[in-house]
Amino acid sequence: MADCLFCKIRDGQIPAKLVYEDDRAFAFPDIQPQAPTHILICPRPHIATLNDLTDADAALAGHLFVVAAKLAKNAGLTEAGWRAAVNVGKGGGQHVFHIHLHLLGGRSFGWPPG
Ligand code: 5GP
Ligand code: ZN
Repeated sequence: MADCLFCKIRDGQIPAKLVYEDDRAFAFPDIQPQAPTHILICPRPHIATLNDLTDADAALAGHLFVVAAKLAKNAGLTEAGWRAAVNVGKGGGQHVFHIHLHLLGGRSFGWPPG
């Protein structure tokens, strides 16, 4: 999608240090980290929000969580625990409308998230 920040990162038009990439997903550190580890994991196709997922996207959506678990393991977070979060829509705190899973770790997290 032409005006999407994360499509531009995917395509190398906006610089970001990709920490993971495959045929379905890509991941890079958040520019304003909210924890010592804060990585954004995106599906390669442009899908604006979780509201836009269809049954055909089930494997792709699940893949984001598998990638998150691998990256968390690489970051040494498996034992301590970590958080996976997806903000959905403006009211859900979403600012960039290309699905992204926040992988946060390296500190403790409260509940509810606020
Ligand atoms: P959202 O609020 O949509 O769930 O999360 C968007 C995230 O993207 C925010 O945590 C924000 O810090 C991050 N972000 C916004 N612009 C950029 C950018 O240009 N580069 C990177 N790496 N992260 C960004
Ligand atoms: Zn996009």
